Amino acid sequence: MPRKPSARAARIWRRLAQNYGARLAEQYGSTCPPDWCEVIDRTDNERLDRALVTVRRDHLQFPPTLGQFEAAIPKREFGQARDSITDRLAAHAIRTLNLCEHQSWKPWSYFGVKVEDGKRLLPTVTGVVIPECKHEGCYRFGKPGHRVLATDLQA
Ligand SMILES: [Zn+2]
Repeated sequence: MPRKPSARAARIWRRLAQNYGARLAEQYGSTCPPDWCEVIDRTDNERLDRALVTVRRDHLQFPPTLGQFEAAIPKREFGQARDSITDRLAAHAIRTLNLCEHQSWKPWSYFGVKVEDGKRLLPTVTGVVIPECKHEGCYRFGKPGHRVLATDLQA
């Protein structure tokens, strides 16, 4: 009998299943496989959230391989200062909003301002707009889209 996936591994697996639907089960089965569990169990939640964001962005059609998933996990040394605001906004949105797959897959619009930095104007992202779902029958259909601001990240 293989060991039952941890609660964390099961949670990540549900998130991947939201993104990839039946394709995930076809490729890997309905529960998190032991080798995936091992990788998930030794990675902290924040890095897992970031990995899910990267995976969502880079693997639109098919679920990633375990190697691709591992590659999406940020290295521990990757300091807060180097985190891009877009990554953090996306991670925050995915963690706090109950997005449907349609919203997850549609392009999101990041917006921002130009901030003066010495003599240059640096574009700085201040928020993101996540569109509403237009798929009738979806649990998000008819509900408004979302706007996540950089200032929400402090909360
Ligand atoms: Zn939807």
